[in-house]
Amino acid sequence: MKCIVCGRDIIPGNKFCIYCGVPVTPSEEVSMPVGDEESNLIKLSDENGNDIFFEFLDFINFLGNDYVVLLPIDDDADEVVILQVEQTGDEESYTSVDDESTVNVIFSMFKERNKDFFEFER
Ligand SMILES: [Zn+2]
Repeated sequence: MKCIVCGRDIIPGNKFCIYCGVPVTPSEEVSMPVGDEESNLIKLSDENGNDIFFEFLDFINFLGNDYVVLLPIDDDADEVVILQVEQTGDEESYTSVDDESTVNVIFSMFKERNKDFFEFER
């Protein structure tokens, strides 16, 4: 298993990457395409039941809520998608964030944490 941010090996059992401190998401919480364990792909279904694949970029906790930062694969769009993680029993689901100021704060945190790994257009 590799760190989603810095790409270095995660020691099995560790909850955080020892290199960059990013929380490790246990694989059972993320639906990975079969046979592609190396990727950071997340499969979500839209309201029409279509599968959409996202690249998982980051996991951010803000004011007690968990958010994921995703990049759509299919699209040419270079815009990231920020979704709130909702835990219902054992099920984890992602919902869109309606509050624009929350999205902006999370995106700022994401940029700050990942400025060494990504180049952002201004
Ligand atoms: Zn790392």
